[in-house]
Amino acid sequence: MPWEPRLVGSTFDSSGRRHTAADLLGYAKATNIRVAVHASVERILLAPTSALSGSKQSAIGVVYRDRIGRYHHAMVRENGEVILSAGAIGTPQLLLLSGIGPRSYLSSWGIPVVHHLPYVGQFLYDNPRNGISIVSPIPLEHSLIQVVGITNLGAYIEAASNVIPFASPARSVFIRTPSSPLYLTVATLMEKIIGPLSSGSLQLASTDIKWHAQGWDVLRSRSMEEFKFREWFGGQDFRFVGPALPVNQSNDAQMAEFCHRTVSTIWHYHGGCIVGKVVDSDHQVLGIDALRVVDGSTFNVSPGTNPQATLMMLGRYIGIKITKERMR
Ligand SMILES: Cc1cc2nc3c(=O)[nH]c(=O)nc-3n(C[C@H](O)[C@H](O)[C@H](O)COP(=O)(O)OP(=O)(O)OC[C@H]3O[C@@H](n4cnc5c(N)ncnc54)[C@H](O)[C@@H]3O)c2cc1C
Repeated sequence: MPWEPRLVGSTFDSSGRRHTAADLLGYAKATNIRVAVHASVERILLAPTSALSGSKQSAIGVVYRDRIGRYHHAMVRENGEVILSAGAIGTPQLLLLSGIGPRSYLSSWGIPVVHHLPYVGQFLYDNPRNGISIVSPIPLEHSLIQVVGITNLGAYIEAASNVIPFASPARSVFIRTPSSPLYLTVATLMEKIIGPLSSGSLQLASTDIKWHAQGWDVLRSRSMEEFKFREWFGGQDFRFVGPALPVNQSNDAQMAEFCHRTVSTIWHYHGGCIVGKVVDSDHQVLGIDALRVVDGSTFNVSPGTNPQATLMMLGRYIGIKITKERMR
């Protein structure tokens, strides 16, 4: 758990409270686990697996830095292993900085190559999101985001409604503040496109573990920009909050232009260490012993509408597998 503010989402429970995987720590056997907080892992420590294994390397621990910059080592015990769960950006970053990745790319950064693994950081996907927000013509209850449909082409449709206080720009000048505020119901409909055709790759910005947020921040702020009260009376039947749908929605060119103009991320970026290319079906890093990846970087498809529950179950599935292997 590093100290830099990174973007981590959550899942809702039935009473609308959001949870992260960290909540599961409450169910852990406290005597069996040590959690280092404000710890940024900088490198995976590797050593030859055995004198007989040739150049094959094993993960033996990690080096991490604490909040005030002190370095620490966390070493695995006998038959233990290092499990990376640093996400679609953090995990390939850590592998690359530890010398596991495409040989020529590592060399271009002056990183000593421990193991040539050409697809580390490749096949990074980001599901596009398009959406509209409208002022609902009828009052709606406040509702958290929910799946409302899946189209034949595999797009997941989600909807939410918010009851928000509304201040007209004119009100403060011409109308005395009413005793009770005005409320509007804003309904948002958005789609997550499954399996985007294009993929990208992770490029290091430096050999430092520091978080370089430019790319995602730009994307995020651009998407929020779209949700300003801009085209208040746009469209025909709906009052859109943000960009209005094209008037002629059967015109493919206009619809495509709308999608291009309003596309943003749905924050479910994944890939970078996908199964079959960087890890095997047991999520072990190919060619390295005692090193596993258990997170969204292993996915080549972001499952369903929201991936977090599946990711937690992946953790459970691999955890049970490891326990069984150790008991053999
Ligand atoms: C704003 C936002 C909202 C979202 N909302 C939802 C939602 O409501 N429901 C849902 O299902 N999904 C949601 N998602 C998606 C979901 O959060 C992610 O898909 C999921 O968390 C990915 O899990 P992961 O384990 O791969 O990585 P992450 O959850 O990103 O976990 C990686 C962790 O590793 C840490 N880390 C990275 N590098 C290092 C390092 N070098 N040293 C130490 N620690 C490190 C990170 O800080 C992070 O805590 C949301 C995502 C975002 C960004």
